[in-house]
Amino acid sequence: MSAGTSDLTRRLAEADPEVARLIDAEGRRQHDKIRLIASENYVSQAVLDATGTLLTNKYSEGYAGRRYYEGQQLIDEIEELAVARAKSVFGVAHANVQPYSGSPANLAVYLACVKPGDTVMGMSLPMGGHLTHGWSVSATGKWFNAVHYGVTKDTGRVDFDEVAELARKHRPKLIFCGGTAIPRTVEFDKFAAIAAEVDAVLVADIAHIAGLVAGGAHPTPVGHASIVTTTTHKTLRGPRGAMIMSTEEWAKPLDKAVFPGLQGGPHNHTTAAIATALKEASTPDFATYASQIVANAKALATGLVERGFDLVSGGTDNHLILADLTSKDVGGKPAAKALDRAGIELNFNTVPYDPRKPFDPSGLRIGTAAVTTRGMTESDMDSVAQWIDEAVTAVRDGKEDRLDDIAGAVRDFCAAYPIPGWSEQ
Ligand SMILES: *Cc1c(COP(=O)(O)O)cnc(C)c1O
Repeated sequence: MSAGTSDLTRRLAEADPEVARLIDAEGRRQHDKIRLIASENYVSQAVLDATGTLLTNKYSEGYAGRRYYEGQQLIDEIEELAVARAKSVFGVAHANVQPYSGSPANLAVYLACVKPGDTVMGMSLPMGGHLTHGWSVSATGKWFNAVHYGVTKDTGRVDFDEVAELARKHRPKLIFCGGTAIPRTVEFDKFAAIAAEVDAVLVADIAHIAGLVAGGAHPTPVGHASIVTTTTHKTLRGPRGAMIMSTEEWAKPLDKAVFPGLQGGPHNHTTAAIATALKEASTPDFATYASQIVANAKALATGLVERGFDLVSGGTDNHLILADLTSKDVGGKPAAKALDRAGIELNFNTVPYDPRKPFDPSGLRIGTAAVTTRGMTESDMDSVAQWIDEAVTAVRDGKEDRLDDIAGAVRDFCAAYPIPGWSEQ
């Protein structure tokens, strides 16, 4: 391997050279590529440091002051700090920072609010929802009677007449809003009015946009949704984990659903890193970061539209762009693979009303959270749009060699934007 790229990998290299070599190579990969996967980011060195600590040694089932193991003096303080920071950053009455990830967090909401067989509603997966919003292959689609709304074909936006009509007809007990491929502002107030009318609990799943909400670059669901779930590792730029936030009314049932309902011991190293990420998210710098994510997404969207790309809904309000490649005469999957070879990492994705199959859909999903963390700005986004266009054109024309030239240019470009946790030694 190269000489080791951080204190951590240097030490690890002595104990386990095979794993150290792979981590080092992944560091180089994350450094040399333009990472545009909309659910990913680069965490700070402080978050990496907190994650890699001996807090992983400790079991602490229960909640602060009510644990089932001894020796919790400091773990309690860490968890209380994370909870207090979550409450302060998001302005909520209650926060649970123990869910292992976004999917278990959502499952805890079901456990707290509904019974198997009850009716729930969410955005359909191919329209931009998440598996855990009742999609058929997920436990949530198998155990609950799920009804789905989508977006309209012409606008690419949620049709609230459809949402209201479905809600009146099916009377869901839970309504999820938010998703994984939504390029536009989630209108929490409109969902809240519909949920109130049919007496449903509104759950805002802000996994993708939590950092934008924290930084004031997207409206907050607080005050509209009684329950808010989020991952901590997407735009919020924390460790892999999740949180459930709520009004006081839901605090106890949600806590009981997470533990003992679904989980055992919380991952305390993750809890510490969530606390650190939330401290970062409370700063003015983070607000600047959040608005720069959106500015970069808008600039990238403009650059792509100028180069003939069709974007679902015509553009973006947030960190995310959904491009429909039909007009480019390339499938989403071959395009994503070609782009990866060209040093631009993103994912193929269904677009609303996609005529192609989910494993070979028409779209690309693109996000700007990670590149913004590296310090890239609007003018860089035009270069990114240019490279994307060149790579998509190259794969369409069968000129695959061109992809390696682009990868070289991308690598040179990325050298000016260091990442926490890896550097060339
Ligand atoms: C990412 C995501 C999740 C799930 O998170 P995991 O940590 O991958 O389980 C849930 N809901 C939405 C909207 C997401 O984007």
